[in-house]
Order: sequence, then structure tokens, then C-alpha cells
Amino acid sequence: MMEYSLIRQNFEKHGFSTQLFSTKEEACNYLTNTLEHQTIGFGGSVTLKEMGLFEALQQKNAVVWHNKVPGMAVRRLANCANIYITSANAVTESGEIVNIDGTGNRVAMTSFGPETCYYIVGKNKITSNISDAYYRCKNVAAPQNAKRLNAKTPCAAKGDKCYDCNSPNRICRIISVIERVPLGMKCEIIFVDQELGL
Ligand code: SF4
Repeated sequence: MMEYSLIRQNFEKHGFSTQLFSTKEEACNYLTNTLEHQTIGFGGSVTLKEMGLFEALQQKNAVVWHNKVPGMAVRRLANCANIYITSANAVTESGEIVNIDGTGNRVAMTSFGPETCYYIVGKNKITSNISDAYYRCKNVAAPQNAKRLNAKTPCAAKGDKCYDCNSPNRICRIISVIERVPLGMKCEIIFVDQELGL
């Protein structure tokens, strides 16, 4: 993997601010010290769950997350927040972010909506280039997420790769590539030098 200093430079050239922490606890402390009295929406993310970030941030903020109260109404409410926090299915060393969504709530909020979007990115999400990022999204993250969500898809049943299914349960419906920070939004990448999320 490319050195973090170079990866951070590449993201900063694309308009992102960046942070690097050794552990998820340090990243969690950083966000709880940074965010107070805010409305915060969370995207679906195993990374955020592993960090215990909802519990930490809700002490001093209004946090909305469909992992806690499932449903489309809660997703819509989260998509009205000033701050959005999510992970990514993959990022590239050259400074792009790739996500695949089923409902599109995360793709929407990382494109337009919040004043500030934070991405928390474990080292397992870093790929060499867009092709590798896309491969990771389709053949690593999506099958594992389908399995976690008990989706009736071939990837969840076999757990090995994407079958480009036409299942009604297909979780891959929208792909986004963030090449530069969207105009009018602030974005920060919080790298954590640990394996985090799927
Ligand atoms: S397209 Fe279907 S088979 Fe492929 S990863 Fe998505 S849900 Fe699984």
C-alpha cells in the first residue's frame, strides 16, 4: 500500500481534508471532541457500528441512524442532517471514493445535502485504482453486506463473488464515484490504520 502521507496528499489535492489515526478509539474521540449540538445522519456502515460511534456522539448531538430505528422514514430524516457520517465501500490511493447502494440514501448524502460529510476509512478499504475499487465494491463488500442483511441473492448464498443478479433483493443498484469534493460541501476523510467494516 502507498504511504498514508501520499494518499492523504492525493485526497487533499481533490479538496478533502484528512486525518489519520492509529485506532478506531482515537478516531471516535476526535469526532466526539469535534461535533457538539449538531444534527448528524449516519449511513449504513459496519465501520460506524464497530466504533460505537452512535452511542458516543448521541451524548451531545441529535443522531439519526436507520440501524437503530429501521425504515425508509428514518433514512429520509437522516438525509436532512447538517452533518453526515459514513464509511466507503472502497477508496483509491489516488484520491477517489466508490460506493454502491441499494436505496441510494448514502449516495445521495455524499453527493448533495449536508454541510459536511465525514468518511471513516479503515485500511482494508484502500485500493490501488478505480478498477480495483470497483472490484472490491462488487466482489468483497457487496457479497458480505448481502450476507449480513440476509438478502436472498446468489452472492449471499455462496459468499464468494458478485453474480450480477436480477434478484428483487439485489443490494447493488446505484454506484457513485466521488472524484472531487462536491461544490458547496466540506468533506473529510478520517483514515484509521486498522481493518474496519466490510
Ligand atoms: S449484484 Fe447481486 S450478486 Fe452481485 S453483489 Fe450485488 S446483490 Fe450480490
